Amino acid sequence: MGQMATATLLSPEVLAKYQPVIGLEVHVQLLTRTKAFCGCINQYGGDPNTHCCPVCLGLPGALPVLNRHAVELAVLASTAINCTVNEESVFARKNYFYPDSPKGYQISQFDKPLAEGGYIDVPAEGGGVRRIGITRLHMEEDAGKSIHDGFADSATRTYIDLNRCGTPLVEIVSEPDIRTADEAYEYLTRLKEILLYTGVSDCNMEEGSLRCDANVSVMLKGAAEYGTKAEVKNVNSFRFIREAIKYEIERQIEVVEGGGRVVQESRLYNSAEGRTYSMRSKEAAHDYRYFPEPDLPSLHVDAAWKKAILRDLPELPEPRRKRLQEQYGLTEQDAATITADRTFADTFEAAAKTAKSAKRVANLLLGELIGRLNTAGLSLDQSPVSMPGLVKAADLLEEGKLSSKQLKGLFDIAFEKSEDFAAVYEREKPQQISDTGAIETMIDEVIAANPKQVEQFKGGKTTVAAFFVGQVMKLSKGQANPALLNELVVKKLSAA
Ligand code: ADP
Ligand code: ZN
Ligand code: MG
Repeated sequence: MGQMATATLLSPEVLAKYQPVIGLEVHVQLLTRTKAFCGCINQYGGDPNTHCCPVCLGLPGALPVLNRHAVELAVLASTAINCTVNEESVFARKNYFYPDSPKGYQISQFDKPLAEGGYIDVPAEGGGVRRIGITRLHMEEDAGKSIHDGFADSATRTYIDLNRCGTPLVEIVSEPDIRTADEAYEYLTRLKEILLYTGVSDCNMEEGSLRCDANVSVMLKGAAEYGTKAEVKNVNSFRFIREAIKYEIERQIEVVEGGGRVVQESRLYNSAEGRTYSMRSKEAAHDYRYFPEPDLPSLHVDAAWKKAILRDLPELPEPRRKRLQEQYGLTEQDAATITADRTFADTFEAAAKTAKSAKRVANLLLGELIGRLNTAGLSLDQSPVSMPGLVKAADLLEEGKLSSKQLKGLFDIAFEKSEDFAAVYEREKPQQISDTGAIETMIDEVIAANPKQVEQFKGGKTTVAAFFVGQVMKLSKGQANPALLNELVVKKLSAA
């Protein structure tokens, strides 16, 4: 990554005088089979200018017909971000000229959007949550693409690919409630998680399925009015958005400190340099000459339709995290890791239900399996250790029939030989010492060698028992029956 450019050497005292204010506009492509207003396929890529028809090209006389599935996905997304879906919303023409939009306008929604008044909670810096308001979610269509490089004559020509024209989008506009670059990052992470859970978009940022513009301003702390905002457009990763916002905050403070004024404008982020550049002065809404789209009736989402749509609303990441903690006794961190991806969480829960201890399954999944998969460059469904295999391993641990050291060894073999856990276990059947006398002899040895820890135990620090279990396990080369060992250690220590 390029070096992060800092605007100046602004002192912490100067920075502390200002309050940054951030609002995000996120465009999300919907996962419909066809485009928003025609039957053309809605698919990334393809030979240039092959997924188009008179409707999405806006040829004279062509009439748009709204894609029902796009509305359904937009309603799902709206509800998942706590917006109220309006019974009636209105499509509008947003007029502007751009080479990748042959119509000369974009079908969007303006004063009557599909949904309004939502929020997403993000973790607050000092604990707890901060609620970031969502002003609106409206439906619109995407434009085509200008291709500025990749051709022999790219130095002198720009090419146009109109395949993307008419792709259904929702735009999600936040309130200016975000206060730091990190908070913006959290908001986006949660929003993306929700959109993936609801299946409304693949949110693939490389392919442009999710795009974000960041509006940034600064004001003196305690000021009554927000400062003038600049808009950083089209940054293609959340990490870069965070960097762009950090840069932009410092740049604006520098401008104000130098006695200047922040200009209302659109800016581009250069990730190699870590800075933003002025692109163009920003249009105001009236420049677009919005008017109601004459070729589309207003959109009605009545209670019955909404109810039918919302039958597909899954449990969302945040409540699921809470439930996993309560139901399975997972830590907050483990629950967060497991629920970050819906399929992963589903896989975990399916396995956890069949296991003797769900917590063991979580520990093995996150502690043993994922690391090995990452090292081997495999996804979960390519894992040599299947989920039933993982459950068997967890059960053996739970029953004390296997020590964790032995389990690690078996997992190593499973990955080396690409075999499932059950097969490896049946063949290797690791030795286990379940002879009470033999274990007691080892415990005596360890107790004799560690008088200080024995005293601690007697003094009430019962947790040192784990130390003795560990030492004996080592002495037994990982072969002592863990359940028996635990029991005997406590017994011996209490009698010592
Ligand atoms: P515009 O008409 O310029 O598009 P909007 O009022 O529609 O402005 O807001 C666009 C986005 O900018 C929203 O996400 C909003 O929260 C955010 N925003 C509005 N004013 C400010 C401000 N002063 N500083 C930072 N963000 C702002
Ligand atoms: Zn078309
Ligand atoms: Mg706006």
